[in-house]
Amino acid sequence: MRILLVEDDELLGNGVYTGLGQDGYAVDWVKDGEAAELFLRSGEYELVILDLGLPKRSGVEVLRDLRAAGNEIPVLILTARDSIEDKVVGLDSGADDYMIKPFDLEELNARIRALMRRRSGRAEATIRHGDLVIDPASHTVEQTGKPVELSPREFTLLQKLVDNAGRVMSRGQLEQSLYSWKDEVDSNAIEVHIHHLRKKLGSKLIRTVRGVGYILDKESDEE
Ligand code: CA
Repeated sequence: MRILLVEDDELLGNGVYTGLGQDGYAVDWVKDGEAAELFLRSGEYELVILDLGLPKRSGVEVLRDLRAAGNEIPVLILTARDSIEDKVVGLDSGADDYMIKPFDLEELNARIRALMRRRSGRAEATIRHGDLVIDPASHTVEQTGKPVELSPREFTLLQKLVDNAGRVMSRGQLEQSLYSWKDEVDSNAIEVHIHHLRKKLGSKLIRTVRGVGYILDKESDEE
């Protein structure tokens, strides 16, 4: 999953950037409001973590423009402890959630998962697909009740395919959710991860659609 982090505080920004990267998220980090708007226009993000006190353009301005343009991407705002009014203005401007600095990375992670769950219309914390049970909180997967070891990127890739079951995902779309702007991506990186997923979960789960991408079929009883 690809996240845009907008934070001008080096220490905090670096902590969030590194922490979320280790959890398998693809994170792009920008440090002012103008860069945020540029990146939001050009990149395909699934979530924005937005500091409110930013150089060039404030987080609230960025947020208002985003919503005015009809962009409904989940936005989690970051505010300082002494500026509670900012939080209210941010929520009124279309933020989905907020965190007060300093905060715990695990809590940030839990809120990200909750936002994505809400976005996908799922009430449950785990995702079921056929004989798979995927738990985004613990990054664990079980197949017919047995745990399967996946790397963070394999996990992210599997989750992306399950979230989009029934839809063909192009290699580019999958790369976008796995790698940030700065990562150097081998041209066959996705193929390699798919190969590993097939070895671990069975060869029939993910189908190749030649020349287009990959698809994980919808369950027949699923709408
Ligand atoms: Ca700031």
